[in-house]
Amino acid sequence: MTLAGHDDVPVTTRRLRITEALDLDLGTERWACNRCGADLGPAAGNYKEACLLFDRDPRDIHGRFPGDPEFSFSPHPDWCRIIEMYCPSCATMLDVEYLPPGHPPTHDIQLDLPKLRARLSAEGAATEVGLQAEPARAPEPARAPESGLRTAEPGRAS
Ligand SMILES: [Zn+2]
Repeated sequence: MTLAGHDDVPVTTRRLRITEALDLDLGTERWACNRCGADLGPAAGNYKEACLLFDRDPRDIHGRFPGDPEFSFSPHPDWCRIIEMYCPSCATMLDVEYLPPGHPPTHDIQLDLPKLRARLSAEGAATEVGLQAEPARAPEPARAPESGLRTAEPGRAS
């Protein structure tokens, strides 16, 4: 069985995009960075355990209000940390979480792999769109703003 448009790629070795920078390798059932291909652990586990973590002070992210440096939208650093997760190979940012200090990264992507595999086999052709919650929509056509300025037409290089 092969994917539509990919006659040489069997479904079992196809990668599916799960998030912007995270792929699921259906052949090995492992997470992978979709920028560099780095292995990020078994798909049954939490890919964040394979990531580089950066524990950020929220005050470094949420700057103080200009002219009133005592105030900002920053959570207090004793109660909240901003944890950034990076690919250990290419340093692409994979996720960011606001967590209490010392809290482990959440395990927020847990796929039912047998059901996913069965669904892809039944469909006969897997598409990346098929895994998204909503169907992909065509982008809105660009409209000229009221000022009379023209915008580039989609699909046409200027
Ligand atoms: Zn990477």
